[in-house]
Amino acid sequence: MSNTRRSFLTKAAVAAALSPLAGVSGAFGQGLAHSLANTPRHSSPSDLKITDVKCGYSGGGLFVKIFTNQDIWGTGEGVDAVGGTYFMVQQLGRRLKGRSPLTPNRIFEEFRKGGFFAGAQSGVYVAVLSAFDAALWDLCGKALGLPVHQLMGGKFRDKVRVYCDTELYAVRNPKPEDYANAAVQAVGNGYTAVKFDIDSATDPNKFDRYNWTASNAELERMFDSIAAVRKAVGPHVDICVDMHGRYDAPTGRKVAKMMEPLNLMWLEEPVPADNIDVYRTITQETSTPICGGENFYLGYGYTRILEQAAIDIIMPDLQKCGGLGEGQRIANLANLYYTPFSPHMVGSFLGAMATAHVCASVPNFHILEWQTLSDTEPRWKEIVTYDKPFIEKGFLVVSDKPGIGVELNLDGLKKYATPGIPFFE
Ligand SMILES: [Mg+2]
Repeated sequence: MSNTRRSFLTKAAVAAALSPLAGVSGAFGQGLAHSLANTPRHSSPSDLKITDVKCGYSGGGLFVKIFTNQDIWGTGEGVDAVGGTYFMVQQLGRRLKGRSPLTPNRIFEEFRKGGFFAGAQSGVYVAVLSAFDAALWDLCGKALGLPVHQLMGGKFRDKVRVYCDTELYAVRNPKPEDYANAAVQAVGNGYTAVKFDIDSATDPNKFDRYNWTASNAELERMFDSIAAVRKAVGPHVDICVDMHGRYDAPTGRKVAKMMEPLNLMWLEEPVPADNIDVYRTITQETSTPICGGENFYLGYGYTRILEQAAIDIIMPDLQKCGGLGEGQRIANLANLYYTPFSPHMVGSFLGAMATAHVCASVPNFHILEWQTLSDTEPRWKEIVTYDKPFIEKGFLVVSDKPGIGVELNLDGLKKYATPGIPFFE
């Protein structure tokens, strides 16, 4: 994408030069017409208008592309809470046609307030809005020739630290040695922090399918798995442990206390996200830092939990909680409570880089999620266009290209498109 700005020629001067009456030299006129034809149209932000919005679905992701009357577009991603939203994207997209994309915060607020009775407080509405918001920031950056982090106030850092979320969740009933081996492999690949899941619906020591009080044998499995990781990686590598909000309060409290000797970076969602009072009890009882927030939406999802110090570390998912602008507002709100901002991220590299711009733009950024699958499965490389390694030695280098700096590869994405849903039609 060229970054050339509109030349010093004003529209009036161009019109006059192209007028049949103005030409004293045919060669001059042709040369000007040629240079105008080769002048990138994105050099005219004041005339930039949205012409269309299209989308595609792949895996758990929604990909939105906003087209304009000039040769630039914006892309954004939504995750998790995006099922069944094709017609919502069409409906919101129609409202954008003919508008300038250069006011993402204003458009976000119009859609959010305008959807007050349509579920704009959380869930699918906000996840779709997140994809639109990122696409608008991408478009702003391309129109103005600036990376998103610059539009958001500039960088505190050039690269953001990531933790490696392991593939162990794909292994049925992994043993402590499986955990240890995966951790050693991740550290060998340059990561300085790892995350493991310890929740299991198929643990043979569960007594009841619907009750989520962990049995003593389950608790022992959880502790032994993470103790094996700590032993394998030594004291300096950070370890996060995720319980996916499945367990009940006594189990959450026990696990948090039990993990204290292992010096976790955090214990994530020990209980479901709905009851803040239970979170607060666990957080106040243990020295294990408690992390949560991948299932909270908008800034409002964080106000009470921050006021009550109910969690130690917040992990908004910027492909789901409201987008890049709202993500930055949440991070800044958390900063007032001296709370680290450690975003959840299960999207593609487009989503990772979009999130990284926000991570770069706030002081309290802590660490960003990264999935090992994105290193090992070809799909994740095929669906985007990017000319460097995604992750280098456990860090994501923030793009300085205009916009987000990562493009969707629609041919690659189409191979993995969700069947039965129109793909960018
Ligand atoms: Mg999680």
